[in-house]
Amino acid sequence: MKLDTNPWGRWYEVGDRVFVRRNRTLDVNAGLVLGDQRCLVIDTRSSEREGQELHRAVRSITPAPYTVALTHAHFDHCFGTSVFTDAQPECEVWSHERALAELAVSGVQQRLEISGWLRESGEEVLADELDAVRLILPNRTMSSDDISLDLGGRQVVLHHAGRGHTDNDMVIDVPDAGVTFLGDLVEQGAPPSFDHSYPLDWPATLTRLLERAGPVIVPGHGNPVDPDFVRRQRTEIAEVADLARKLPPGLEDSELEWHANRLAVGGAAGFIALRRAQEHLAELAQLQ
Ligand SMILES: [Zn+2]
Repeated sequence: MKLDTNPWGRWYEVGDRVFVRRNRTLDVNAGLVLGDQRCLVIDTRSSEREGQELHRAVRSITPAPYTVALTHAHFDHCFGTSVFTDAQPECEVWSHERALAELAVSGVQQRLEISGWLRESGEEVLADELDAVRLILPNRTMSSDDISLDLGGRQVVLHHAGRGHTDNDMVIDVPDAGVTFLGDLVEQGAPPSFDHSYPLDWPATLTRLLERAGPVIVPGHGNPVDPDFVRRQRTEIAEVADLARKLPPGLEDSELEWHANRLAVGGAAGFIALRRAQEHLAELAQLQ
């Protein structure tokens, strides 16, 4: 799919009544799926100001009541939720059950860390916006079983295929439109984000997802992609997992960097990925 060179802040219809809005901040995506009776908003962006902008954008398309689905517990996908629950107090907010647990534990910490980082970067206004975020926890959760939501004349399916970008990634399928929202299980325009990832599990998770994903795949960041793109990113993540299994444990940072710099995901992402993978290998070894 080809989007134009100034894709920010506009809805794109990527399937029948399925829209994606790319946002300049972090190139993060939000989604909107229309049914006959209600709509589904996918992710709420990273602050109340950004949530308000998204809410207005939803209302420019439809007056229908909405349900919110959060792909995972990272701030840039869920810190605008309060705008949606303020405007529609009975709003259902769905996530994986571990995303709820993660937000309950780390929401305040994420807010502190990100606002501190923004302040250090001279982004005072954005830092203030982060500090003002009211954290809203999901009020509906799913785990291993699929959840079907009826939007009126169309079903969307929420499911979880295993650990990957986090342990709480929720995928949203719109089967009748052939569109799948993968959250940060796939990223376009940047390497996959490994900070809270499970690189050893991630490739198999993508394999399971590819078995049921539609031809149009919306990543958490960047342009919509196709299944071949997801296969290529799976190969890159599998390279990390394979290398982590081959390397001896306890390598110095400089040695790990040397290996990371040879990975297709790049040195910076690769270093974090190898560290995460080695931590998990060490945990597995302890269990044996
Ligand atoms: Zn993320």
